[in-house]
Amino acid sequence: MDKSKKISYPPDISAELEDLYHKLNLSYERLQQKLNEEYQTGEMGYPENSAEVEPPLILLDELNLPVDLVKEVICDISKMLGDVLEEDSRKELKKFVVSLQKGDISLKEIISSYPYDKELLEKIKLDEQLFFKLMLFTLRPFLQWMAAGDENLESVKNRWQDSNCPVCGAVPELARLTEEDGRRMLWCWLCSTEWRFNRLTCVNCGEDKAEGQLYFVVKDTPYRVDLCESCQGYLKVIDESKVPEKDRQSLDWFLNDLGTQHLDRLAQKEGYMRG
Ligand SMILES: [Zn+2]
Ligand SMILES: [Zn+2]
Repeated sequence: MDKSKKISYPPDISAELEDLYHKLNLSYERLQQKLNEEYQTGEMGYPENSAEVEPPLILLDELNLPVDLVKEVICDISKMLGDVLEEDSRKELKKFVVSLQKGDISLKEIISSYPYDKELLEKIKLDEQLFFKLMLFTLRPFLQWMAAGDENLESVKNRWQDSNCPVCGAVPELARLTEEDGRRMLWCWLCSTEWRFNRLTCVNCGEDKAEGQLYFVVKDTPYRVDLCESCQGYLKVIDESKVPEKDRQSLDWFLNDLGTQHLDRLAQKEGYMRG
C-alpha cells in the first residue's frame, strides 16, 4: 500500500485563516510590485555589499523604512486581522491605528523596538500577542523583499553557522528536513530566509544531541517537534520525505506555519518554549 496516501497534507486551516492567508498574499504581491518600481533596498538600510558585512545584515533599529508606506501596510493588515479577531481586540487595534495616524505614536520607535519592549507596549496599550502579530505581518514583506533582492545572499548563508537568521537575526520559526539528504533547513518568519543548520544541535541553547534528537511526531502528518531537555526549547519541523511528492516543490512555509499553530500549543502545554 502507498504510505503517502495516509499523510494529511497540506495542513488543515480554518476557512477564516485561509481567507486571511490569501488576502495577505495578495497584499504582499501588490506591495512587492510597488517596492520594485519605486524603491531601492540600500536606501532602506540594507547593506550595499552584504558579502562584506558580518551577519545579521539587517538591524531593525537602523532600518529606514518609508514611514508612509509602512503606515499604509499597517492599516491594511489591521483590517484583515480585524476580520478574524474578537470584538474587544478589534476595537483595541482600531484605536492603535488611529493614534498611529494622528502621530501620537512614533512608527520609527515601534519598528526599532520590535519585537519585545515592555515600556513601549504599555504606552501603545495593545495586547502583546496582537502587537507582535501585526508588526510581524507588516514588516515581513519589506524584509522579505530586501533579502530576495540580494545577489550575495547564497554566499552569506553558506558561511553562516548560527541558529538565528543571517539576514535579520530573528529566531527560526520552522525547519524542514530535506527529502534528498535529510539536511535541516531553518526558516525565518520575519524575512522568509532559509538557511542550513546542524541537524543535531539545539537551535535554542546550542547543545549537541550526538546521542540523538528528542522529538515527538504528529501521526499521519509530515510534522514533528524537536525538543531539548536542557533548555526546554522546541522547534517545529517538516519532514519533507513524508510530504506528498506533488506538494514538495511548492512547500509553502507560511501556510505550514499557519497550519501548525496547534503544535505550538501542544509543545507549550508540555512546558516547552520557543527560543
Ligand atoms: Zn530573517
Ligand atoms: Zn536546548
